[in-house]
Amino acid sequence: MAFDVPRRQIHLDFHTSEHVPDIGGRFDPRAFTRTLKDAHVDSVVLFGKCHHGWSYYDTEVGARHPNLSFDLLKAQVDACAAEGIRTTTYLSVGWDERLARRNPGWRRILPDGTFHMMLGRNLDPFWSYLCLASAYRENVLDQIREMARRFPSSEGIWLDIIRRHECCCHVCRDAMDDAGLDWRDPAHRQIQAKAVFDAWVADSTAAVREVRPEWSVFHNTSLVPRGDRKLYDAFSHIEIEAVPTGGWGYDHFPLSARYVDPMARDFMGVTVRFHFVWGELGAIKHPNALEAELATMQAHGARVCVGDQLDPSGVLDEDVYRMVGASYARVKEREGPLAGTRPVADVGLLSSIAVRDPGAVSRDARHIAEDEGAVRMLQQAGFLFDVVDLHSDFAAYKAVVLPDKIRLSSALAARLAAYCAGGGRVVMSAESGLDLAGTAFALDPGAAFVGPSPLNHSYVAPVEGFSPDFARGPLLAWCRSWRAEPRDGRVLARLHEPYFERSSRRFNGHIATPPRPEPSPFVGAIEKGGVYWLAHPIFTHYREMGHVALRDYVAAIIDDALGARTVRTSAPRGATVTLRRGAAHDLLQIVYAPRELRGSTPLGPIEVIEDLPRLTDIAVDIAASRPIKEVLFGPERLALPFTLQDGRVQFRVPAVQGAAFIVLAA
Ligand SMILES: [Zn+2]
Repeated sequence: MAFDVPRRQIHLDFHTSEHVPDIGGRFDPRAFTRTLKDAHVDSVVLFGKCHHGWSYYDTEVGARHPNLSFDLLKAQVDACAAEGIRTTTYLSVGWDERLARRNPGWRRILPDGTFHMMLGRNLDPFWSYLCLASAYRENVLDQIREMARRFPSSEGIWLDIIRRHECCCHVCRDAMDDAGLDWRDPAHRQIQAKAVFDAWVADSTAAVREVRPEWSVFHNTSLVPRGDRKLYDAFSHIEIEAVPTGGWGYDHFPLSARYVDPMARDFMGVTVRFHFVWGELGAIKHPNALEAELATMQAHGARVCVGDQLDPSGVLDEDVYRMVGASYARVKEREGPLAGTRPVADVGLLSSIAVRDPGAVSRDARHIAEDEGAVRMLQQAGFLFDVVDLHSDFAAYKAVVLPDKIRLSSALAARLAAYCAGGGRVVMSAESGLDLAGTAFALDPGAAFVGPSPLNHSYVAPVEGFSPDFARGPLLAWCRSWRAEPRDGRVLARLHEPYFERSSRRFNGHIATPPRPEPSPFVGAIEKGGVYWLAHPIFTHYREMGHVALRDYVAAIIDDALGARTVRTSAPRGATVTLRRGAAHDLLQIVYAPRELRGSTPLGPIEVIEDLPRLTDIAVDIAASRPIKEVLFGPERLALPFTLQDGRVQFRVPAVQGAAFIVLAA
């Protein structure tokens, strides 16, 4: 039976050093569960072993925290079970400071011979990675089995810091020798890394299942790997860890959720209550930020989880749970109409990394510029879209977008050609659509491929109907385009080249050479038979530069491909608009929570959500999938007047502050 993913979880971190005294000294089981229940929490992740390597229960495999005098995990699990709060046990796999110091031979070694650390080098105060090919592996498997045996009233295990990273320790080098791999070759080291990762995920799941077949198992890779769906056979469910201020950014959750949601399995979004990153006791985000993050999760069909860190004394922070409780009350109100709904999408965004490196789980894979740029553009332009991979059914979408870097195998080219022949539309940019060698179009957009432009910037001049409504162009694209000459395609944009390449030998102005008045012989964008191609790596460029005029140009091309959108609204560009379909109702969600850049850290920018501006009178126009009887607004289910014309439902949402939730009842 599928694991019933909790609806309102707390992930209660407890990474606690041996230098902190009196662990759990003020833990009161009744106060602990009362605080959770009052905040509408239905499940909590509790610590078996932390990154410091200390266990919080009576273990024979690991070592109980030296300053903990009782079995804290058992006390927590039993107290929660008595109050009907579900529990999952946590075990840090990839980091274990205690064992890393005692067993340097178990540590992951980088190619330069140094230890692999979270940040910095050996003596810096950061976590050390252990190698899961070393003897450490058996130690962790034994502890997993022990936890499964000891906590029958818990319902799963959460395995943390699962990464696929090259290692040059003696075990990995011997394994590469045995497999005929050359450990001096980075590509061969990646093969070994993948073998270790795959074996670990499969074997640790098996270790849980041999003791408790019913337990949930989640492997935290800190991102949702795209393109290798077989990997998820070892997962009972998917959680999307996305701490917007802690290196994930606000793009990570929607991108990942739009990939997971169409797989038709329940999943959970995980944010934190902290201002910056995990473990920040004494730092708390504004309640409006939590409110917006949780509403965004639900708009994407996710169940919700908030990360917290238990104070070493074992006491929960009342301020935190007052804030969580207020937001969880509203989450709860929305759960009924969300149940059983599936996302509706016009556009399938084919993930570039899913095609180029299926299953990639490195930290770099968290931010794929062309994928993130495309998500930003599609979301800001108000399209309904999913993120898809090669396992997806393209026929479910009116158009498929291939951002910037997806060269086509002959099999993928044939598949896309058949999709177009069946009425689908393919929108490709830059290298997308080329053959694997990058020498010709594998899917013909009605142009002859020439090659990469020698010029590091150029200008797009959209033809009538494809310009933003405030500028006709030529519009500066400050990136290197690809060159193709029009043949029998419909030209949608011309390409103007600068007078000369900007270089140290000659340059003009601050950043770019002006455009020549006449178009070049090359196209900016072209279409033939439903195959669209844009000359610039426009999605990567948008991720870097945010040039909104170019976004509107791309949106006009995608609109041309779609014909008609399923949903149009007058919501602002920064709003998230989603539509979900259930057996007897559709569900429209609008979330508007502008974020402001307020700081910067080595992990990335600190974007803060604080104010939730009130929007009023939002026009909505939806292609009705069936006769609609009522349009109901908000938790009070206020009936809104609506009109039905040519199969489209039109109404106005009176107000949106943070999130609006509209049920279209059939
Ligand atoms: Zn190794």
